[in-house]
Amino acid sequence: MNKYDSEKMVGLLENSGIRLTENLDNADVIILNTCSIRDKAEHKVYSQLGRLSPLKKKNPNLIIGVGGCVAQIQGEKILQRAPQVDLVFGTLNINKLPKLIKEIEETGARIADIDSNSDIDTDSETIKRNGTVHAWVSIMHGCDNYCTYCIVPYTRGREKSRTKEAIFAEIRGLSEKGFKEVTLLGQNVNSYGKDLADDIDFPDLLSLIDKIDGIERIRYMTSHPKDLSDKLINAMADLPKACESLHLPIQSGSDNVLYNMKRGYTSEEYLKKIDKVKEAIPKISLSSDIIIGFPGETDDDFEKTRDIIKSVRYDGIFLFKYSPRPETPASEFLNQIPNDVKQTKFEEIMKLQNEITLSKNKELEGRVLEILIEGRGKNDNNKLMGRTRTNKIVTIPSLTKEGEGGFEKEDLTGKLINVKITKGNLYGLDGTSVSVSS
Ligand code: SAH
Ligand code: SF4
Repeated sequence: MNKYDSEKMVGLLENSGIRLTENLDNADVIILNTCSIRDKAEHKVYSQLGRLSPLKKKNPNLIIGVGGCVAQIQGEKILQRAPQVDLVFGTLNINKLPKLIKEIEETGARIADIDSNSDIDTDSETIKRNGTVHAWVSIMHGCDNYCTYCIVPYTRGREKSRTKEAIFAEIRGLSEKGFKEVTLLGQNVNSYGKDLADDIDFPDLLSLIDKIDGIERIRYMTSHPKDLSDKLINAMADLPKACESLHLPIQSGSDNVLYNMKRGYTSEEYLKKIDKVKEAIPKISLSSDIIIGFPGETDDDFEKTRDIIKSVRYDGIFLFKYSPRPETPASEFLNQIPNDVKQTKFEEIMKLQNEITLSKNKELEGRVLEILIEGRGKNDNNKLMGRTRTNKIVTIPSLTKEGEGGFEKEDLTGKLINVKITKGNLYGLDGTSVSVSS
């Protein structure tokens, strides 16, 4: 969500005549887009601001702005704590950014504006996409779930769905520009449409997007287990462009912990849904978010989380140590777990998951899979990087073709290629090209 918001900020600023620079020292405007999901992310903001202080001393006209969730929650306090900051703006008024910067340029004022009444949608033509193949598309804002550990409902406001017309137009525009893959974003995509006058839900929206020519793949995140419906599972199984990949965060394997988190499902209900998904979509790859060290978590609770990881065999997980967040009920719970206990358990789960991920990736060796090429390999310019429908990264040697000046590397960005998997690694797969399909 933050990456998408950054693309909006860059686009809005470029429209107002401000250009991106690679060189921080030369910047006239510096914007930090911040995250407050865990304490550590929040600390990073202040240490980064500390590093920017000397630049401000060198160039008093430099404008430093802080946006994102930390800004939304702290507002004015950031101006008090960090004198080098000129602007604080929130997650709900990104569209005001150019206007606020102009005001600072003209008046020299320091501004904190976290207004929640502005128009939250940014014109899709304005968004400066990072990449040419895959794009993020928000389908809804905010969250109404109030899991007891989570700050998101306080930083991103109430659930608000975008209209199907706006989403459709954005994705059709992307397909016209050559984009092949979209990830639909929402804190709980299963709630999509509940607040709209139209009679539309998330599976209906998927069916609509599936019809857009040029878009080859549709992903989404995040789906909340309590609201994952049979209708959605069937839509994923039936729609050709819906990828065989599902991020379904369980958070904990213990029913006590799930209850205290206010997640709204038991581990048994979760497993039943996973079974249905595996049955309907046999090639599905599964991932999850897991929190270690939630207040009151016992050794027995922890074992249940281990058991569920072994039973589901996720392709990958995002693992977090519980971090108390301001205003959230869980931060007031008794029995907070000491950090060293969280750390030991974190490492145990990471080790278990790494074994599973590696073994699942090794199972793919020898198989032929379709990948969508996103560009050159991250660490090796001679390689190409693509993604399977199951969201695994595959690196293959560059292909060459005969050009005017002899053999040259073929630009396959945005192409679908069939590759044979030669090696399964922990962080992805190696492969060789078999055929270019489109
Ligand atoms: N809406 C998504 C999650 C968004 S936040 C969902 O419900 O699945 C992404 C992840 O951050 C969460 O799934 C959770 O695992 C983690 N997280 C949120 N608050 C946290 C906290 N206080 N401490 C540690 N991890 C947290
Ligand atoms: Fe946070 Fe829960 Fe909402 Fe996800 S569903 S954003 S974890 S409150």
